[in-house]
Amino acid sequence: MIILVINSGSSSLKYQVRDSGTGERLANGLIERIGDSAHGGPADHTEALDRVTEQLEASLQGRPIDAVGHRVVHGGERFSEPVLITNEIIRAIERLNPLAPLHNPANVQGIRAIAERWPDMPQVAVFDTAFHRTLPEHAWRYAVPDELYKKFGIRRYGFHGTSFEYVTRHAAALLGMPAEEFTGVLAHLGNGASVTAVQNGRSIDTSMGFTPLEGLVMGTRSGDIDPSILLFLSREGYSEEDLDRLLNRESGLKGLTGHNDMRSIEESSDAVGTMALDIASYRLAKYIGGYHVAVGGSQALVFTAGIGENSWRFRERVVNRLAALGVYIDDAENQKPGGSPREISTEESAFPVLVVPTDEEAAIAEATAAVVVSA
Ligand code: ADP
Repeated sequence: MIILVINSGSSSLKYQVRDSGTGERLANGLIERIGDSAHGGPADHTEALDRVTEQLEASLQGRPIDAVGHRVVHGGERFSEPVLITNEIIRAIERLNPLAPLHNPANVQGIRAIAERWPDMPQVAVFDTAFHRTLPEHAWRYAVPDELYKKFGIRRYGFHGTSFEYVTRHAAALLGMPAEEFTGVLAHLGNGASVTAVQNGRSIDTSMGFTPLEGLVMGTRSGDIDPSILLFLSREGYSEEDLDRLLNRESGLKGLTGHNDMRSIEESSDAVGTMALDIASYRLAKYIGGYHVAVGGSQALVFTAGIGENSWRFRERVVNRLAALGVYIDDAENQKPGGSPREISTEESAFPVLVVPTDEEAAIAEATAAVVVSA
């Protein structure tokens, strides 16, 4: 099937066209500045979609699209798998807006724009939280009064689920086992970063929580901090917006070094950059150790996404902190560039260390085709 995969943000719309059978990428693009027609951007998501359609006419040469798959950030407690979109589903996604105020409304705008243009087009929502619906209560609950959970849905949800599910399947395939038998720790290290504990193919813990802010040191997000810092700063006169900007956009690697991009930090290799990498790799190693315990002894450690796939230096820093687990990487294998799933550990390593490229668009295309076929 030919699937249009849409990742709709508030001011941008990313798309790819994939053949769900072969995985082939037939087209891709990015429409920016939605709502900024003064600077040449489309007025709204419907107009953005007009631009996508124009671009597709050029690249698809008349091949029709069979279905559209949407990346939807928050599926709350309701969605544990991809679903065919109906009006009721759209309303259910909108009810989750308070949990993802920047993302879910934009995702729905993308869905509505498609429905307006192609009313008969099957559309599927693939949720970034869905893979983590298997977290046990002791992992998803915060130690706060139950009222906060009941009233506001305050609990841990986890994100990057589409990527973790895809990488679990491909890591299992590399190890020659069915995904349901895979037990290990997966680190998705992109601009956003999180780590997940997978036991028998299911997510049992993950480092992002109520929002994608919890957990690892990221490009511009702080990850774990003492929540009292927010109270302290608020008493010092910081507003809600100040704190949001500070922790989501001005912290992490950017806050520590001035750069959010791993390549710039690795290139500069000064003392400040080295300390930032020490902080980030130490935090990740602590999580890996914790999740090794959570899964009852991991059978693999997997790196994925921009940094996980491409930065051998960062992988080395992390694995060098894991000697207590008996894990060792092979320097030559680790430093080899490569775009396919591979093992980078030594023969002596207690369990294999893998690099498995993620492909969220392929995962969304496959899931969309599967839902449409079974509908
Ligand atoms: P996103 O979360 O935006 O999808 P990516 O998965 O593309 O992000 O990851 C982006 C990160 O990957 C950036 O920090 C970038 O510097 C890093 N990265 C990409 N290629 C390399 C490389 N060759 N060496 C080191 N870091 C890299």
